[in-house]
Amino acid sequence: MEEKFKKTAVVTGGSRGIGRAICLELAKEGANLVINYAGNLQAAEEAKKSCEELGAEVLLVQGDVSSFDDCKALFDAAAERFGRVDILVNNAGITRDNLILRMSGEDFDKVIDVNLKGTWNCLKLASKIMVKQRYGRIVNITSVVGVIGNAGQTNYAASKAGVIGMTKSLARELASRGITVNAVAPGYIATDMTAGLSDEIRETVKNAIPLQRLGDAGDVAALVAFLASDKAGYITGQVIHVDGGLAM
Ligand code: NAP
Repeated sequence: MEEKFKKTAVVTGGSRGIGRAICLELAKEGANLVINYAGNLQAAEEAKKSCEELGAEVLLVQGDVSSFDDCKALFDAAAERFGRVDILVNNAGITRDNLILRMSGEDFDKVIDVNLKGTWNCLKLASKIMVKQRYGRIVNITSVVGVIGNAGQTNYAASKAGVIGMTKSLARELASRGITVNAVAPGYIATDMTAGLSDEIRETVKNAIPLQRLGDAGDVAALVAFLASDKAGYITGQVIHVDGGLAM
């Protein structure tokens, strides 16, 4: 990527799975990384090392995205180390699946707090920096489940559908400031999050996917890196699926 200056990217939940693959892809494109993670320091340090091997400067910041104070500390640390934030990828997310009759209110609230409020926290803090810069690329990771729903995921589907609404609203708010805001909706991607699926469910899922396989984290990361680049400057407010054709 021929960029005029070294970009700084903040990736929430950048230590494992899809977030880690996004960090590696952005590092390959020449960005410096601020990698946020929740608690697994070993995974975070491994991701940091891999990005550094690709030439990136990397800052690791532990924090729970559902806490506004933790997010404030994340963006303060990014600004202090790199002086700017060009790219934000809201990737941190969790599941607490259950059928509605068995799902607790706590599990509903927890998923909304991390996936939806956590995204909003980072959008608010990044917007302040990006508006001043009059430049920014924001990519929110939603899910196919936020579009088509899934039994056992009322909490997760609500959070991810909410992310889509926020993406479109903020795209309209920030367009005049040179900031794009898009959402990427992965389908079933092979990560720790989907590692617990039974063989039976895995087979059912594969049969429902036109491309007949689960995706790789790299499949998602390639699109995110494009949306985060200068080449994607005329794309905003979109929800782009990376799901092997599952939702169409
Ligand atoms: P994953 O393998 O479980 O990794 C989750 C990452 O998020 C880890 O880095 C984790 O850090 C971090 N994290 C978790 N809770 C956090 C919190 N409260 N604050 C900050 N960081 C937190 O998940 P994944 O499969 O890569 O999923 C990444 C994103 O893609 C999520 O938003 C997910 O909903 C979405 N997605 C995934 C799939 C899929 O099939 N995998 C499909 C559609 C959408 P620690 O390791 O420190 O806990």
